[in-house]
Amino acid sequence: MTNRAFVAGNWKMNGSRADIDAFVDQLKPRIDDHLPRMAVCVPFVYVSRLAEALGGVGVATGGQDVAGETEPGAFTGEVSASMLADCGATYAVVGHSERRAMYGETDDIVVAKTRAAIAGGITPIVCVGETLEQRDADEVEAVLNRQLGAVLEGCSDEELSKIVLAYEPVWAIGTGRSATPEQAQEIHAFLRSQIAKRADTLSRSLSIVYGGSVKPDNAKAIFAGDDVDGALVGGASLKADSFADIAHAMASQSATN
Ligand code: PEP
Repeated sequence: MTNRAFVAGNWKMNGSRADIDAFVDQLKPRIDDHLPRMAVCVPFVYVSRLAEALGGVGVATGGQDVAGETEPGAFTGEVSASMLADCGATYAVVGHSERRAMYGETDDIVVAKTRAAIAGGITPIVCVGETLEQRDADEVEAVLNRQLGAVLEGCSDEELSKIVLAYEPVWAIGTGRSATPEQAQEIHAFLRSQIAKRADTLSRSLSIVYGGSVKPDNAKAIFAGDDVDGALVGGASLKADSFADIAHAMASQSATN
C-alpha cells in the first residue's frame, strides 16, 4: 500500500459520549498493521473523549472544521487548530460542501482555515467538489480549478505537502449515489495533474481521497483507480464495522494493485 492511502470518517452532527465509547470498543479488534492511515472526525465536543479512547489503537482523531484565525482572541464560537491539537486531534475537515453551502464558506475562508490548521499542527482534509447542476452544465473542471486553485495560490509548497485533498461531488454526499469508479478516477487524475503543474513531486505524494456515499459494498471498486488514495466517509463511518470494512477494502485493493 502506498503512503498516500488514507481513510477518514466524518461523523457530521452525530454521536454522543456513549456512541464514541461503543464505536471505539467495536473498532479496536478490527484494526491491524495492514490497514491504511485512518482518522475519525467528530464534533468538537467529543474530540478529547475520542482521542483518549483511541489512545494506542493507531487511528487518529479529527475535528470537522477549524478556525481561520491562529491567535487566541475575540472569535466567539471558533475553535483553533492548537486547541484541537491540545485535545488530541491531528486532523480537521476543511471546506466541506455542507459548510460551503450552509455556512457561507468561501474559497478565501477555506484557504485561511487550511493554513491555520497547518500552523497549529493539524492536517487539513480539504474538500472540493461540484454540485449536480455544475456537473450537468459541464462545469466540473472549472469549479474544481476554482476551489483547488485558491488553495494552490494561497499555500506554500511546504503547506501543500501537509494537506489531504478530498474530492467530494456534492451530488454523491449522503444520497446513496456514489460516483462510479471511472468518474472518481477521472477527476482524481485531473486534480493530480493540476497539482503537478505546481510541483510534480508534490502531486505524487499528496493523498487524494474520494467522498460521497462510500459503503463497504462499493469501496473496493472505487479504490481501484490509481489516483484514488482512500475515502472520506460520512454515514458509513458511524458504525465501526462498516468503517473498518471500508479501511480493509482499501488494504485489499492496494494488495491487488
Ligand atoms: C461526507 O460527509 O463527507 C460524506 C462523504 O458523506 P456520505 O459518505 O454519507 O455520503
